[in-house]
Amino acid sequence: METSVTLERALALASTLTIPRHTETTPLSLLSGRILASPLSSKVDDPAFDNSAMDGWAVRAQDCTSDGTTLEIVGTSRAGGEQLPQVSTGQASRIMTGAPIPPGADAIVMVEDSAEEGNHVKILGPARPGFIRKQGENLQKDQEILRAGTLIGPAEISLVATMGHHEVETLCKPTVAVISTGDELVQPGTNLSPGQIYESNSYGLTSLIEKMGATAKRYDVVHDNIEGLRTTLNDAAESCDAILTSGGVSMGEWDLVRRLMEDEGQPLFWKVRIRPGGPPLCGSWKNKPLFGLPGNPVSSHVVFISIVAPWLAECMGADHELGPRLADRIRVKLSEDIKGAPKKLCMRRIRIEIGEDGFVATTHTHQGSGNIHSMVAHNGLTLLPPDIDAKAGEIIDALWLR
Ligand code: AMP
Ligand code: MG
Repeated sequence: METSVTLERALALASTLTIPRHTETTPLSLLSGRILASPLSSKVDDPAFDNSAMDGWAVRAQDCTSDGTTLEIVGTSRAGGEQLPQVSTGQASRIMTGAPIPPGADAIVMVEDSAEEGNHVKILGPARPGFIRKQGENLQKDQEILRAGTLIGPAEISLVATMGHHEVETLCKPTVAVISTGDELVQPGTNLSPGQIYESNSYGLTSLIEKMGATAKRYDVVHDNIEGLRTTLNDAAESCDAILTSGGVSMGEWDLVRRLMEDEGQPLFWKVRIRPGGPPLCGSWKNKPLFGLPGNPVSSHVVFISIVAPWLAECMGADHELGPRLADRIRVKLSEDIKGAPKKLCMRRIRIEIGEDGFVATTHTHQGSGNIHSMVAHNGLTLLPPDIDAKAGEIIDALWLR
């Protein structure tokens, strides 16, 4: 087991742990939040036929070179309509947005640029070929449009439908066990006895797992006893693809996740040189990847965001650019001095706002790793290299949380 590794090393070691990938067919109506298993091509041209971008008149451009030309109205082309009038010299057809261009016409005059007089129309503005949306100008039949590993969001799902697919191959969601450990933890909604606190990590971690497009299986809190922990880990290893624990990975006598993993599991690394989130543990239990996250609420979120999320995305087959992710790397200008951490990458919580010439970062609440409010009051994390303090006005790397 390696100890006190850098974040890069932690990611490299974690990437040796994998979960099996399976695919399933998912109907369009359930596609939101899913990840494409294979590239997707369009079944049709889009637009499927030349059509008008405006309500107005389909005309022959050469008939409309002078203002005030009068054309004979020969019919109407409407969206979804079938019968198209032939437009010959000196003629115009009324046309609605999205309606097919009638034969003979090669330009559109906007309705605002015309005056209708009985069965004639006076043209008072330009006849524009550019108002015709050409067949296949957006997508061509059989053209590969979406990459494997793309996360399907609102725009992607509309695109999938536009391409004519009613169902697509998606990656099955892996199931990740979430196990909180600690004698002091009780469920919100009950009364606290002295020394007790409300258990919150399993809810936050479940939400993070779901945000990554996986399924979480939350276990009841495991108390600080080796047998109970072993039984729960065994159950999780049987029924889930990966295991997250929270708490019990520090140096203390009751830090049983670490002790059990050292004695009976296959630990890969323990402790990462990051602050907050120092003591995470990673390895496998009964051949299932296990991440032992620190119990401090901020630490558990930060370790998930910086280690578990990228690992999970990779395991699921997500595309680096287009798959699910929880943070974007950006550059921010500090509006106050920020102290770094000795020998550790310092991830202080910052609020990122868009200033006049770029992103500006401020800090608000207490930064303690026990203060989960700091993850709500802020929307980013600094990426201050070890042993570096930064001054107000400096531009540094940061993670912008989604
Ligand atoms: P541990 O890593 O078990 O030493 O826990 C570190 C700190 O995080 C302690 O103050 C715990 O009470 C707190 N903690 C541990 N697990 C949770 C949890 N599931 N929800 C909220 N706080 C927790
Ligand atoms: Mg504990």
